[in-house]
Amino acid sequence: MLNDADAELSRRLIERGIANRDATPAYLQELRGNYKGLGHTVALPADTAQVSDIIRLCAEKRVGVIPYGGGTGLVAGQVAPEGPVPLILSLEKMSAIRAVRAEEGTLDAEAGATIADIQRAAEAAGLLFPLSYGAQESARIGGALAVNSGGINVLRYGMTRDLCLGLEAVLPSGEILHGLKRLRKDNTGYDLRHLLIGSEGTLGVITAAALRLVARPARLATAFLAVEDPAAALTLLSLFRDQAAESISSFELLSGQSYAFLGATCPEVRLPFETAPEWSVLVELGTGPSLDPEAVLAETFEAALERGLVHDGRIAQSGQQRADFWQVREMIPEANRRIGAIASHDIALPLSEVAGYIAEATPALRALLPCRINVFGHLGDGNLHFNVFPPSGEGRDAYRHRTAEVTRLVHDMCVARGGTFSAEHGIGRAKAADLQRYGDPAKLAAMRAIKAALDPLGIMNPGAVLLTG
Ligand SMILES: Cc1cc2nc3c(=O)[nH]c(=O)nc-3n(C[C@H](O)[C@H](O)[C@H](O)COP(=O)(O)OP(=O)(O)OC[C@H]3O[C@@H](n4cnc5c(N)ncnc54)[C@H](O)[C@@H]3O)c2cc1C
Repeated sequence: MLNDADAELSRRLIERGIANRDATPAYLQELRGNYKGLGHTVALPADTAQVSDIIRLCAEKRVGVIPYGGGTGLVAGQVAPEGPVPLILSLEKMSAIRAVRAEEGTLDAEAGATIADIQRAAEAAGLLFPLSYGAQESARIGGALAVNSGGINVLRYGMTRDLCLGLEAVLPSGEILHGLKRLRKDNTGYDLRHLLIGSEGTLGVITAAALRLVARPARLATAFLAVEDPAAALTLLSLFRDQAAESISSFELLSGQSYAFLGATCPEVRLPFETAPEWSVLVELGTGPSLDPEAVLAETFEAALERGLVHDGRIAQSGQQRADFWQVREMIPEANRRIGAIASHDIALPLSEVAGYIAEATPALRALLPCRINVFGHLGDGNLHFNVFPPSGEGRDAYRHRTAEVTRLVHDMCVARGGTFSAEHGIGRAKAADLQRYGDPAKLAAMRAIKAALDPLGIMNPGAVLLTG
């Protein structure tokens, strides 16, 4: 039921020819079910001028705005559970691929284009858009830029930030930033593109991006290798770097718990090993047509066997088997969701600290409470998802009161080793208190000053990233 203020907002949007609808539950929940958002109206702009109109209207009415992409964010940046009811501004109708320039290796996409749509447009031009992760059919490029997503190819191609050449955005004043340049070099003062990337909707609405495309590897080789432990996995990574240099694009870690959860909850997933190894890595190499990545993979596997780093392995023998291998990795978040975590973490450490961290944090958590720990993630980037679950046969509800304690331990130990409590998911609302706790005071002061300068009315995604009040 709309109150008078919402009804007026909706009427004013209609007067301006801007489509809107009532907020259905899909806009108000996040995938992990930890937050329930407020919101009555979803504005559905058709173009950048309409986004500007919406922001000016919200500034006039002092209504908060939540930019909304695919709703797949994992830190509750896209849902506001408390405070005055905001307007949800969904980019879903702005999903055009405006241009593909194969000769330049660039593509312009509107913020509502999904990652998978952009991948397909790049493929049609014979190129690759290397951003890739499990939520890519739903996540939109505006959301990916807003949180600076990572994914499975960061090792070779970088984060979303590294794939963005230019941005078009609407600032909190309603002004349009015409930054859709496609230049690799442009040193003309403060780079607002990099300020907006990773700002999670708190400094403006991204409406379009100029993106970098790369050469599509003509040949791929993919394998699951069972390793002795995380330290052996990291030595194996060095070995691959020596052998394959820049052609190594993915190096993902899976724990035995990942296989156990997949086996229990996702019977459709084909597991690569008859007996799940305690630790394993999924590795992928990609090369041009004249090189043989399978030979490099097989030789490195042999060398690693001889050195006792690996004790088993499966090299994909077909495109289908490669897809099956990746399905194993990509279904882990879904298996975790079905089991139900007490606490999920997205941490990153310097590579030389990763093995020591796992060896130290695992017994520390087990001493704190009975639990199962699923460690997996983008090991090549030093990025672990270190997720904690109730013991077998028990539900998470009985352990909800321990979540903060568990997270504190995981984050404290990570930060003590020079790591971060948010590697690729952002801050949103779920980690705003962590940012306040662990953030460098000078950085926090500068962030607040930037926020106050660009968004003096505080209308952009209030409550996300920086704690208010
Ligand atoms: C199964 C699964 C696997 C995942 N795997 C990975 C992974 O491997 N690596 C990784 O990095 N992430 C991963 N993620 C998280 C991923 O980064 C986010 O889900 C995604 O990038 C967010 O995009 P979205 O369009 O869904 O944004 P939303 O969830 O809608 O929004 C996310 C944030 O961005 C803001 N926002 C959205 N659109 C805009 C815009 N146009 N302008 C300004 N702000 C905006 C929102 O206000 C919010 O703060 C995964 C998520 C899932 C569900």
